[in-house]
Amino acid sequence: MNTDHYDFIIIGSGAGGGTLTYRLASSGKRILLIERGPYVPREKENWSTRAVNVEARYNTKEEWHTADGHPLHPHTNYYVGGNTKFYGAALFRLRREDFGEIRHHGGVSPAWPISYDELEPYYTEAEKLYHVHGVRGEDPTEPWRSGEYPYLVISYEPRIQKLHDDLVRIGHQPFHTPLGVKLNERDPRRSPCIRCSTCDGHPCLINAKADAQTCAVDPALEYPNVTLMTDALVSRLETDASGRRVTKVHVERNGAKLELSADFVIAACGAINSAALLLRSANDRHPRGLANGSDVVGRHYMGHINSVMLAISREPNATSFQKTLSLNDYYFATPAWDFPMGHISFVGKTDGVTLSAGAPALVPGMTLEIMARHSLDFWLTSEDLPDADNRVTIDRNGGIVLAYKPNNEEGHRRLIAKLKGMLKDIDCTTIVPRHLFVGQRIPLAGVAHQNGTIRFGRDPQTSALEVHCRTHEVDNLYVVDGSFFPSSAAVNPALTIMANALRVGDHLLERVGATKAAMNLATEAAEPAGV
Ligand SMILES: Cc1cc2nc3c(=O)[nH]c(=O)nc-3n(C[C@H](O)[C@H](O)[C@H](O)COP(=O)(O)OP(=O)(O)OC[C@H]3O[C@@H](n4cnc5c(N)ncnc54)[C@H](O)[C@@H]3O)c2cc1C
Ligand code: SF4
Repeated sequence: MNTDHYDFIIIGSGAGGGTLTYRLASSGKRILLIERGPYVPREKENWSTRAVNVEARYNTKEEWHTADGHPLHPHTNYYVGGNTKFYGAALFRLRREDFGEIRHHGGVSPAWPISYDELEPYYTEAEKLYHVHGVRGEDPTEPWRSGEYPYLVISYEPRIQKLHDDLVRIGHQPFHTPLGVKLNERDPRRSPCIRCSTCDGHPCLINAKADAQTCAVDPALEYPNVTLMTDALVSRLETDASGRRVTKVHVERNGAKLELSADFVIAACGAINSAALLLRSANDRHPRGLANGSDVVGRHYMGHINSVMLAISREPNATSFQKTLSLNDYYFATPAWDFPMGHISFVGKTDGVTLSAGAPALVPGMTLEIMARHSLDFWLTSEDLPDADNRVTIDRNGGIVLAYKPNNEEGHRRLIAKLKGMLKDIDCTTIVPRHLFVGQRIPLAGVAHQNGTIRFGRDPQTSALEVHCRTHEVDNLYVVDGSFFPSSAAVNPALTIMANALRVGDHLLERVGATKAAMNLATEAAEPAGV
């Protein structure tokens, strides 16, 4: 047998690729997981707000460009586990309605080709795999679920409990954010997670965050048939003469060029890099880019409309782990407005160092410290709509060009106004956007929630992937990262990417004739510890 031939080659080890590798691992098939980055080094800087937020120590140094040629330094990370190493681990299911068509102020959010009900069993599995803590029945917009959350809800710290009580008093319905961390509040001495203030945006120094490396890639590597190749960039995919099969995966590693092959090739490089990979892989049969007869590859880029708002309260906010509360009262149309506004939750606790990154020079450090000590740091997300002109292209050298014009912004403006109105009634005197202080938060570079660039659908004219995320045009090529979203909804995307990867994994196992029952799947073995 050719030693460079595998049953599956998976490119990218993040939420999509890591989870898929995990799903396929126990099949006994030869699996190669290729990751362009190394492991995140374990070092004190993992938890340094200066290293992470001011010096951008872990961001890629790669330079992209905007449509008008300006350099763009993306806030994204190339490591084993992908962006989940840095995520805030707020692991939401999309709402049931998000899978249908929804009318927004700025246009229509299109329907998905699968329903919530089809993805529900996979959400349940993904929540187990990624240690999601939560409680059913609090979030007024939550979709039905076949069971309880696998892990007990994470408690509010006193300031957040007070905010919760204040919001309830003025008629709102805040709820506990579903979170993927290995926290055991009933047995803190044994709990892997210590509930620190440097979670969102930071890698976890003690590997207690439920990320794709620790929950999916590491367990998959326990199987002898799974191999991980780090520091290996997939530069291009080559097809046979018919254009129907990928026959070679071109890899650049430590200055060497490798050619590998597999029965099935799965791109999971993140929505921007997977689109770029297909575009770079154009050939005679696929002149506009691999699997791009529809011309949708790279288009419909979405990343949410996001704001971080600091509410400066009279009383100090001594919260350490702040991401525990969310509010979806304005997620859908309300009697007051006919359209959705979005989702409100929290980022990790801002400190003076983080604020100093972009603060005007005349603001003294002491003022920033005091502001940070009194701030509640809200994260607001609204849905952006798929616009064909918001797109990833590649330049002459194969570099990434990202064109994006925000749309559907009225709902987001109203959401900010709603938050301001709420907080006025409950003791928060001032509310300011954090980007006034944290200068590097340039909206376009904030590609954390990237999705939509290789959308799935039933019509090959308007989508690049069919419902199982196989490309319409290349029989052995799949995409399982955030690219497949036809609409972005307004909650965080990672759990949906993970659940979908499990779904696609089952389809692939069927294609190779491996059955779940025969494989003793590890997700079923991994019973929640009830923490
Ligand atoms: C600071 C931050 C906070 C976030 N917080 C949340 C949150 O609380 N909740 C949530 O749901 N989401 C959150 N997200 C978003 C979440 O992390 C992403 O949605 C998710 O990781 C995307 O999964 P993916 O598989 O599409 O891509 P990724 O996880 O980015 O994985 C892609 C992988 O592919 C590799 N790769 C890329 N190109 C190549 C190539 N050519 N060859 C080989 N390898 C390649 C990359 O190095 C990377 O490891 C956050 C993101 C960030 C940055
Ligand atoms: S809160 Fe827990 S999971 Fe997050 S970084 Fe701190 S110890 Fe790790």
